[in-house]
Amino acid sequence: MKKKFSGILIVLSGPSGIGKGTVIKQLLKKIANLKISVSVTTREPRDGEENGKEYFFTDKQNFLTMVENSEFLEYAEYCGNFYGTPKKKLLDMLNNGNDVILEIDVEGAFQIKKIFSDAISIFIAPISEDTLKHRLLNRGSDNETSINERINRAKKEIECATDYDYLVENVDLEKCVEDISKIIEVEHMKTKRLSYIVKEG
Ligand code: 5GP
Repeated sequence: MKKKFSGILIVLSGPSGIGKGTVIKQLLKKIANLKISVSVTTREPRDGEENGKEYFFTDKQNFLTMVENSEFLEYAEYCGNFYGTPKKKLLDMLNNGNDVILEIDVEGAFQIKKIFSDAISIFIAPISEDTLKHRLLNRGSDNETSINERINRAKKEIECATDYDYLVENVDLEKCVEDISKIIEVEHMKTKRLSYIVKEG
């Protein structure tokens, strides 16, 4: 009897500045069949961000055309910009047996859970508001208005953390990556996710 695995959809959320990008980079190195879904956004690229890598950058008009053409699985407005998950690419990756990670906001996470009840949701929480503010300031890519907007949004998001399946604190990068890897590993062992190929003879 051989176990057959199917890809898992992993929804990862957490306040802006918490370090989700770094955590995901480490997870991609660690887990062989893990892929990331690259979102489309209307926000301006930050220094060092490349089109097609962190995001597909576009303008509002094109984004709204994509919405009309049902090209997104979910989309949301976040601090004045639009962000959306392209549908086709994500479904292709899952159908190919890859685990796929979606780094999206709370609103998007709820939309995804409605569509994919088997998706696992993980919230990465900061240790304190001060730490978060410090990280956003250090990033140096957001102005003061944007930082304050992101802090206010973070407070609202943290209130939703208990609606997620798992809560992981980002106190230490290595520990955070390890915790998320363990969650994914355990989820793969859940009987509801397994189908067995019974060999003849
Ligand atoms: P940032 O501008 O800091 O890259 O992202 C702002 C927020 O948008 C983050 O919370 C991020 O998780 C979220 N986000 C990124 N892509 C998507 C997406 O495709 N859909 C939704 N709903 N949120 C997204």
